[in-house]
Amino acid sequence: MCLSLAFTALQHGGADALAQHGNFIQGFPGSVDVGATEMADLGLLGLPFPEEYGGAGADFLSYCIAIEEISRGDVSVGITMEAHTSLGASPFFLFGSEEQKQRYLPPLARGEQLWAFGLTEPGAGSDSGGTLTRAALQHGHWHINGSKAFITNAGTDMTGGVTITAVTGMHPDRRKEITTIIVPKNTPGYIIGKPYKKMGWKASDTHPLIFEDCVVPESDILGQQGDGFKQFMRILDAGRVAIAALSVGLAQACLDEALSYAKERKQFGQPISKFQVTQFKLADMDTEIELARLMYYKAAWLHMQGKPYAREASMAKLFASETAKRAADQAVQIHGGYGFMDEYPVSRYWRSVKVNEIGEGTSEVQRMVIAKHLGC
Ligand SMILES: Cc1cc2nc3c(=O)[nH]c(=O)nc-3n(C[C@H](O)[C@H](O)[C@H](O)COP(=O)(O)OP(=O)(O)OC[C@H]3O[C@@H](n4cnc5c(N)ncnc54)[C@H](O)[C@@H]3O)c2cc1C
Repeated sequence: MCLSLAFTALQHGGADALAQHGNFIQGFPGSVDVGATEMADLGLLGLPFPEEYGGAGADFLSYCIAIEEISRGDVSVGITMEAHTSLGASPFFLFGSEEQKQRYLPPLARGEQLWAFGLTEPGAGSDSGGTLTRAALQHGHWHINGSKAFITNAGTDMTGGVTITAVTGMHPDRRKEITTIIVPKNTPGYIIGKPYKKMGWKASDTHPLIFEDCVVPESDILGQQGDGFKQFMRILDAGRVAIAALSVGLAQACLDEALSYAKERKQFGQPISKFQVTQFKLADMDTEIELARLMYYKAAWLHMQGKPYAREASMAKLFASETAKRAADQAVQIHGGYGFMDEYPVSRYWRSVKVNEIGEGTSEVQRMVIAKHLGC
C-alpha cells in the first residue's frame, strides 16, 4: 500500500473520529482499548506489515504520515498506535522466525491485540544497555528476574504481551550479552504494576513491569541469543522517525487551534490575528512545522531506500519534538488566560508535548547520536 491508502483511511473520518475519542477519554486510561479498536477497524494498527501477516502492506512513510494525522487529532491515540507498531509488532517482523511471525504478527497487525516493548528499567534509561533484568537458562526455560519502567500499552485489556530485553550472559570483552525475550500476558511471575499518573498522554497506557522468576520456553527469543542490543538500536532508529511524525502532528494541532482562536478573539477592536506580533508567531510555527515534516519525510525515505538513516532519524526526532514544544508554548500564549483552562485543547497539548523530548531517546541522546556522526 502506498500513501494514497493511508490518506484514504484518514479522509474517511478516521482522524476526526479518533480525535473525538481522544478528547473524550482523557483521564480514563482503561479506555485506550476503545481508540485502539477503532484504529484496528481502519486498518491502522498493521499499516507497514505485509498483507500475508494481516497488515496493510503500506510503506514506512505512509505509516509515519498516518501517525502524524492521528496525533494531530490526539497524541495519546498516536502514541498508542506508534508504540504498538514500531516497538511492539516490528520486532516480530524484523527478527522473528517464520513460525513466530505466523503466530504473533497477524493478531497484532489486524489490531486484535496490542503489544508492548520493555527496554527501559528503573536504573537503565538513556543507558539502555545497562539493563539489570536477567534471564537464566535452566532445563529448556528462561527464568526472568528484574523490572521495567514506563512501558506503553503493557496493561490494556487487549494487550497480548511484552517483548523485553534481558541480560543472558557476558561477552568475552565483559560487555553484557542482551537477548530479546517474548513474554505473553498471564505468564506466571510476570506482574503488571499499577498505571502511572502522568502529566500528559493521559489516554495512553503506561505501566511498570516486574518479573519474579517468570518462566518462558527457551525458544521464545527473537533472533539469536545475544542479538538484543543491535536489535533495539534498529527498532529505536525507526521509532524515532515515527516519534518525529507524532511531534509534527501535535505541533500542527497547536497551529490549527492558535490560528483559529487568533482569528476569532478580538482585543482593541480587532482580531488578535491582525497584530503583527501574533502573525509572526503563527508564521514561525508554520515554517518550523514544515521543516520538521520534511526532516521526517527524508529520514523515512532513506530508511525505505535501505540507506543509513540513524543521523537523520535523530535529527528529525530532536527538531520535531522541540518544534512541537515551541508550538505548544506559543499556542497557549496566543490563547492568553483561556489557554490555561482545561476546556481549551491547547492546555492539553502543552502538558503532553514535553514527553516527546524524552521518549525513545531524550533530546540529549539525539544530540549525542548526531555528534557521533560528526566524528566527535
Ligand atoms: C510516557 C512514557 C512512555 C514510555 N514508553 C516506553 C516504552 O514503551 N518502552 C520503553 O522501553 N521505554 C519507554 N519509556 C522510557 C523512555 O524511553 C525513557 O524515559 C527515556 O529513554 C529516558 O530514560 P530515563 O527516563 O531513565 O532518563 P535518564 O536516562 O535517567 O535521563 C535523565 C536526564 O539525564 C540526561 N542524560 C542521561 N545520560 C546522559 C548523557 N550521557 N549525557 C547527557 N545527558 C544525559 C537525559 O537526557 C535526561 O535529561 C517511556 C517513557 C515515558 C515517560
